[in-house]
Order: sequence, then C-alpha cells, then structure tokens
Amino acid sequence: MPIHGHTSLAFVGAGSNQGDRMTMIADAAHRLAETPGIVDLVCSPIYETQPVGPVGPGTFLNAAFQLSLRISPMQLLTRMQQIELALGRRPPHGGPRTIDLDLLIYDDLVFQNDMLTVPHPRLIKRAFVLQPLADLAPEICHPESGLSVGELLAFLPQPNEIIRRFADPIVIAYANAV
Ligand code: ADP
Ligand code: MG
Repeated sequence: MPIHGHTSLAFVGAGSNQGDRMTMIADAAHRLAETPGIVDLVCSPIYETQPVGPVGPGTFLNAAFQLSLRISPMQLLTRMQQIELALGRRPPHGGPRTIDLDLLIYDDLVFQNDMLTVPHPRLIKRAFVLQPLADLAPEICHPESGLSVGELLAFLPQPNEIIRRFADPIVIAYANAV
C-alpha cells in the first residue's frame, strides 16, 4: 500500500441501470469530490451501454472519474461503498444496480486482498469501462499488461456494448480546494 504524504492518481468506473441513472452518476461524482482526501475529480462523458451478463434488464449509463487523492486504495473503496449504500444500492451482488462504483486503477499499484483487486480484473475486457477511461487518459498505463488504456480499447473486438454517447461530462465546481 502506498504511503500517503503525496498525491496519487486513481480512476473509478461508475455505472447505473436503475432509478434516475444520470442523477445517480452525478450524485456519486459530487459525493466523491466532497470526500476529504480527494482533492480533484474530473468526469468523463457519459455513455449509454448494453448490460453485460446477468445485470439487466435495462441499459446502463457508464462514466469514469479521474481522482487526485491523498487517501489509500482501501480508504477509497470504503468511501465508494458508503456512497453505493447511500444511493440505494441493494444486494444481490451482480444484479441490477442504482450505482456501481469500481476502483479501476490506482497509480501503478497491483494489489489483491479479500475486498479489493487493483487494477480491476474486468477493466481490460469492457468497452463500457475502457471508453470513458480512454476519454480521460488514453496514455495511462494498465499496470499488469503494460499497455495503455487507448491500446486496450483499440484491441477490443467491436465495442458494440456502447450504444451512444449520452451526455457531456459532469462538471464539479470545486469548493474544497486548498
Ligand atoms: P461488480 O462490480 O463486479 O458487478 P459488485 O459491485 O457487486 O460486482 O462487487 C462488489 C465486490 O467487489 C465488493 O465486495 C468489493 O469488495 C469487491 N471488489 C474487489 N475489487 C474491487 C474493485 N477494484 N473495485 C470495487 N469493488 C471491488
Ligand atoms: Mg462493483
């Protein structure tokens, strides 16, 4: 785990296919941005995407957030899970969800414990994750493969998971900058 005196760079994926999906994504972005130790949040465009696996019915909205932060990966995961609960996410795991927040990349960290795997294991296979990530940071390196996010996206088979670009990035007005 990194030592925290310095600022790290992390990417979080957000998805919603229940309720007011756009509000869920925006609410999650604002709650993350207001978290102590998260000093900056930049949002990607929002995409409408096909459900993959048993998470339907209903299309998803997906986005990615780029975070500058001074909290550890486990602290970030805990905060993401608090936000999921606050926004009404209920079990079962893997079912339809008001909001799903996944930690995709945290610096060049490769880490696994019972609660957290970084980089996120499904990141490299999913256009709905890679597309918004590539919009934010196409050159960022995926630590396990050594490939950039842009390369991983280009290597995917037809990205027909993505239906359309749905909305422009959510703009965060930063109040807690120091
Ligand atoms: P999925 O996101 O795969 O559809 P869930 O959100 O239901 O599934 O899974 C949540 C579980 O995944 C949590 O118990 C969490 O501890 C674990 N997990 C492992 N790695 C990560 C990660 N990088 N980001 C978010 N959750 C993770
Ligand atoms: Mg999840």
